[in-house]
Amino acid sequence: MEKRFTDTLLHWHKRYNTREMPWKGEKDPYRIWLSEVILQQTRVAQGWQYYNNFIHKYPTIRYLAKAPDQEVFKLWEGLGYYNRCKNLLFTARQIVSEMKGVFPDQYENILALKGVGPYTAAAIASFAYNLPYAVVDGNVFRVLSRFFGIEEAIDSTHGKNLFAELAAKVLPKKEAGLYNQAIMDFGATVCKPFAPICSDCPLQKYCKAFAEGKVNYLPIKEKTLLRKNRWFYYFLFSYKGKLLVSQRRANDIWQNLFEFYLLETEEQVKWDEAAVQQWLREQIGIKKAVVGGISPLQKQQLTHQQIRGQFIGVTLETVPPFLENYRWETQKGLQKLAFPRFITSYLEQTTVQKGRF
Ligand code: SF4
Repeated sequence: MEKRFTDTLLHWHKRYNTREMPWKGEKDPYRIWLSEVILQQTRVAQGWQYYNNFIHKYPTIRYLAKAPDQEVFKLWEGLGYYNRCKNLLFTARQIVSEMKGVFPDQYENILALKGVGPYTAAAIASFAYNLPYAVVDGNVFRVLSRFFGIEEAIDSTHGKNLFAELAAKVLPKKEAGLYNQAIMDFGATVCKPFAPICSDCPLQKYCKAFAEGKVNYLPIKEKTLLRKNRWFYYFLFSYKGKLLVSQRRANDIWQNLFEFYLLETEEQVKWDEAAVQQWLREQIGIKKAVVGGISPLQKQQLTHQQIRGQFIGVTLETVPPFLENYRWETQKGLQKLAFPRFITSYLEQTTVQKGRF
């Protein structure tokens, strides 16, 4: 399965990946490093112009190293996190004074540079020198956890090791740079956090999350599972008289019980019909739906967590592909399933139980 994953991703990249970025295909380690540092806490759309400005003003590392601090800070203005800029200057000057201006070409030496972590080091090593180091970031966690159906939390120690091992395993040693670019772009444009384009995904046939209806569950974060105050917004998606349900599997509260489509958020969300329609459209790609009702706030106090949330009824005209493999149940079917108290107490008050959703 690993080989199929890698080959398919590379094929997609070579034939269909149209994502453009100014530093794409770049082999100059200085430029790759610069772009990666800019992108560490910045979105691509914003970082793009800054990158162009920097390259225009400092086309090589020697130009950057001899630039006055204030001039560089001025160019950085608006990007924030000034430590990145300080490290950039420090490292440029260090490479010029201690390494004759030649960027290191070994992974360990790149990683030893100030402000360079494992992700950036792997990106520079693989893009510039095609060294076999896998990038592991949010995009990679998401794609791997969905395709292989891994329910291990990506931020737990065990999860981090497991994903790092898997990332190294699926990395084609001779095409490391290409593959790293492929998985990063794939995560950003196809297997996106919300509304992944499963309908047009070359990996769909073998994707576990897709087959088992758990695309919205994965990846799992321990940080989320341990929160004291959790906000659960349940979308009651109905289509031709059936409701979407899924079974909770993660190592979390209510394991193995059933629920509706869950959106968990860190903060309370103020829902009204327009906000629901906007979320459906922009976050999960549902363009036509009727918002049936939004429940009052529901609460449940558990031993270590307080759960609060709402139920939102949505009637769909068509089922988006990434929801196809979820379980769709009739009223009769619903009655046979076990739901957590938070949901049953809501159902008892509503018409859903009576078959009018
Ligand atoms: Fe991601 Fe969907 Fe493709 Fe699976 S089928 S890899 S969830 S886009």
